[in-house]
Amino acid sequence: MSRKVTDKAVADRTPRHVPTIIVGSGFAGLGLAIRLQQQGRDDYLVLERGGDVGGTWRDNTYPGAACDVPSHLYSYSFALNPNWSRSFSRQGEIQSYIRGVAERYGVLDKHLFDCDVTSASWDEETARWEITSSEGDFTADTLVSAVGGLCEPALPDIKGINDFEGEIFHSARWNHDADLSGKRVAVIGTGASAIQIVPAIAPKVAHLDVYQRTAPWLLPRMDRPYTLPERLAFRHIPGFQRAARAAIYAARETQVVGLAKAPALMRGFELLAKAKLRYQIRDAELREKVTPNFRIGCKRMLISNDYYPALSRPNVDVITDGIAEIRPNSIVTKDGAEREIDVLIVATGFHVTDSPTYETITGRDGRTLSEVFDEDGQQGYKGSAVANFPNMFFLVGPNVGLGHTSMVFMIESQINYIADALSTIRELGLRTVEVRKDAQNAYNKELKAKLARSVWNTGGCASWYVDKHGDITTLWPDFTFEFRRLTKKFDVAAYDTTTARSERKVMAAR
Ligand code: NAP
Repeated sequence: MSRKVTDKAVADRTPRHVPTIIVGSGFAGLGLAIRLQQQGRDDYLVLERGGDVGGTWRDNTYPGAACDVPSHLYSYSFALNPNWSRSFSRQGEIQSYIRGVAERYGVLDKHLFDCDVTSASWDEETARWEITSSEGDFTADTLVSAVGGLCEPALPDIKGINDFEGEIFHSARWNHDADLSGKRVAVIGTGASAIQIVPAIAPKVAHLDVYQRTAPWLLPRMDRPYTLPERLAFRHIPGFQRAARAAIYAARETQVVGLAKAPALMRGFELLAKAKLRYQIRDAELREKVTPNFRIGCKRMLISNDYYPALSRPNVDVITDGIAEIRPNSIVTKDGAEREIDVLIVATGFHVTDSPTYETITGRDGRTLSEVFDEDGQQGYKGSAVANFPNMFFLVGPNVGLGHTSMVFMIESQINYIADALSTIRELGLRTVEVRKDAQNAYNKELKAKLARSVWNTGGCASWYVDKHGDITTLWPDFTFEFRRLTKKFDVAAYDTTTARSERKVMAAR
């Protein structure tokens, strides 16, 4: 990994000025870096706390980790990969793809790895961001946060968890040194991660207890390896791969109608999921336990063919009584039952609406992002800007997430917007750009109206899509092509701007 860009600055600890700093190099930050590189810009740097690109795909190495969106869609539009080995790729293949794209587009030299950004504060005087990190201090004219929503593991606040004496780790920080063979293992959680982990480890452990708080909805996983003729066709027949990608995109987009506009239509998916449940789980008591009690789609719809069969294994128990406490070698449920275990795997998700990074970013009026979100609501503008944070852009900011299709599509829409913003700032000689509060409010009023009728709001579940104020601040409630249209060009009219000249005028008037 090259470090040459910052070696000197790190050595003498003087803040290094970089016109544009991007924090994070998952699909989002890396994609923006590639776009800037393609535009011939040499004035940016990516600060990445990990040792490689890839973000969540680098970090989530748990057994069974794979994507729920077909790879021909879940990839950059500018770097299609005809070699995907199967329809839904596994973690290792996706990580190699991301790494390969970073190498091919020559952006690794513009990365500083193992660089943990600890704070970023706006300085009104200099109109710069002051950034501190484990690798020294920086200043930037523009800061782009691309840290992602699924990067900070959330540990459950369960009595006694810190006193557990066996092996304990979070799904996103898998301990590959822990040998599960012949062990008594417990998994807490039954979300997207857990339903992949359980079938992958069940055959090798002595016993597995799956602690379920809410039963998820499961649909079939239409996964299969691609044949050689298919891969040759993807590679050699002009337009074939683009057509396959477009077909996947269109099929997935139809789900928006049920999810966001007419939740009653989700009943069709429910019937399919119930048929699958009846077919795959013969034991009536187990079937009852894992039957969801909310409208499908309210929480992320999961896809798996091997989760229910894994739960039906004789060495697996599903426990729904609720955890009362964790003891040094066991878990005690609210009904008083105590089950001994050697290994505890917490697949309890991430800090999404309460990301700790929000506390480290301080805006124009001295409030942190976390304070602004607390006091004004967790709102942004086009998921890419937040009032009070001048010259700052967000990749995967508020209300950009999806459950049904490729986040890479949304990310590329935001890359169009932010890259155009950076060009506009340059072309117009702008010193500062800050989204206007009235523009942000109007945007969010419309979003809220759309979200009100969505299944995420009406489906009768508690999900991580909702923030502590009860607002859905993570999801995009419309067709993704609508978001692509909205983010095509940077709409400078929605922003308060200053130029170096207007700033001088203001200073003179004082
Ligand atoms: P998650 O969806 O947030 O699921 C966390 C699970 O832990 C839920 O079952 C939750 O129960 C349970 N839980 C949380 N706190 C608990 C507590 N204190 N006691 C008992 N149970 C508790 O997390 P995840 O499975 O890691 O997935 C997060 C997101 O990552 C997904 O929604 C998806 O966007 C992404 N992801 C995608 C894939 C893929 O593409 N295949 C795979 C993994 C993750 P409740 O339901 O009751 O809250």
